[in-house]
Amino acid sequence: MSCWNEIVSGTRYSFKALGDLFLPRKCAVCQTILACEERSICDNCRTDIPYTWFWSWPENPAEERMWAKAGIEQAASLFFYRYSSDYSHILHKLKYGCNIPLGRAAGRDLGEKMAQGGRFNDIDAIVPVPLHWRRQWKRSFNQAEIISQGLAKGFASQPGNKELPVIKSLVKRIKMTSTQTRLSGKEKSENVKNAFQVEKKMALRLLSKGINHILLVDDVLTSGSTLAACATPLMRYFRVSVATIGFVE
Ligand SMILES: [Zn+2]
Repeated sequence: MSCWNEIVSGTRYSFKALGDLFLPRKCAVCQTILACEERSICDNCRTDIPYTWFWSWPENPAEERMWAKAGIEQAASLFFYRYSSDYSHILHKLKYGCNIPLGRAAGRDLGEKMAQGGRFNDIDAIVPVPLHWRRQWKRSFNQAEIISQGLAKGFASQPGNKELPVIKSLVKRIKMTSTQTRLSGKEKSENVKNAFQVEKKMALRLLSKGINHILLVDDVLTSGSTLAACATPLMRYFRVSVATIGFVE
């Protein structure tokens, strides 16, 4: 079952129909009013999601971008993220509109595809890229953590897979970085350099439990500077692969 469909089901359906009468739900992408059986995204927009297919594409553009900055293993993103495209609303609504179910559903979709693609079958645990505590306090949640929860469910949906643990406290963001959007590539790397610190004791404990390959998760892969800065200290202990919902071309 596509994960976009899992948000509301079963007996809650009739309550939803009732709710739609008073407060119509809109498609997160095109903003048209959703039919009762549609969830978060209308059927038309769902059919046209600009998927990357990186989950079954060795040496894909996300990997090439990351390899230029850090010796990670593999990378996958769910869809091509274009600022002018209505699909950018999916991440915007998660990050700034607090649409948690939408973020979880996108994560689950990617998790299912990565598990089916077969290139990520030896992942042992999922680690969301952390926010600085001050930013998380302001936003009240970390979007990478929401996506990670969905990813874990998506991986587990494949027969024979158990749910991967989502480990939140392994890596800390110790430097509050300014927004990256107006910086050049070199400035971005400088901006996030040494921004992340791994909890050594926890890393050793996880290694002793057989956790060797970590999937590092963020909402969007732009220059790759933030993911590389976060992956680098983790790579002293673990093999690291990367997953994001959006991939900026
Ligand atoms: Zn739509």
